[in-house]
Amino acid sequence: MAGKRPTGSTAGREHRRHTQRVATPTGTLRPVGTVHNAIRPRDPAVLNRLAGEVALRTFTPEQIQSWRCEIHEQTLLTSRSIDGPNFTRVSRADVERMVRMYDDRFFDGKILPTASAEGLRFALSSRMTSTAGKLVTQYPEGSHDGIRQFQLVLSSTLLFQTFEDVSRGVKVAGCPCRDRIDAMQRVAEHEFVHLVEMLIWNDGNCSEARFQSIASRYFGHTDYQHNLITQRERAAVKFKICVGDTVQFYHDGHRMTGRVNRITRRATVLVPNPVGERFSDGERYVRYYVPLEHLRKG
Ligand SMILES: [Zn+2]
Repeated sequence: MAGKRPTGSTAGREHRRHTQRVATPTGTLRPVGTVHNAIRPRDPAVLNRLAGEVALRTFTPEQIQSWRCEIHEQTLLTSRSIDGPNFTRVSRADVERMVRMYDDRFFDGKILPTASAEGLRFALSSRMTSTAGKLVTQYPEGSHDGIRQFQLVLSSTLLFQTFEDVSRGVKVAGCPCRDRIDAMQRVAEHEFVHLVEMLIWNDGNCSEARFQSIASRYFGHTDYQHNLITQRERAAVKFKICVGDTVQFYHDGHRMTGRVNRITRRATVLVPNPVGERFSDGERYVRYYVPLEHLRKG
């Protein structure tokens, strides 16, 4: 938002519980232990120190897992919108709280106050339908060297698409997710790495080595596609295949025809067969797990 003064916090009224922050006399929430005006916007000394830390730190898979579980638990406990692991409501405050919990644990709470010194907002978008998250950097002073305004946005639409069918596995950033909160955490982790890169180096790209090194050392990510789209979306976009489609494929040299029942990394195709398993429609089918690229719409 050009021309808008950085406020240091976009929190405020939506937060009732703020376990790790205190209210200043103006009512603005600040991280405990930081004197907010001690951080000058885009201070090279501060950013260089952060660069040194971020370039080196590595967390063990056990540590990553343990903090992720804590964040998962805390999200369930403290959110006013999220009503379960596969929530049907989520708010901007949830995005901010989640990212803050990551900052506190993985970055000693240093990233958000430093970014906030320039300008940092969180948002949730229902109109983003092809990417699960994005990090927008604006230069309100019109200069690449000037103050930046960061906005970290997650797509509620894509989050709600994950675990619509609870039985199917979902992987985000190469990591298996148990539920919708887990998927939201993976997307938040990816976007947080974008924020870290933009804040410190003023550029960044998830298809390049530095991003991938950070995402791997901090969060164990193994997949860095910026478009963290769901498998269902991927299938629909790339292979033009959706659940319910009639498809054909070859199995042991035979051409089979069936219907797509679910899509993960492969499609589950149900082929009518009198000796197959009985399904809820009363018919019997045999399940085939077929790579998406081997299916043809029939
Ligand atoms: Zn990305």
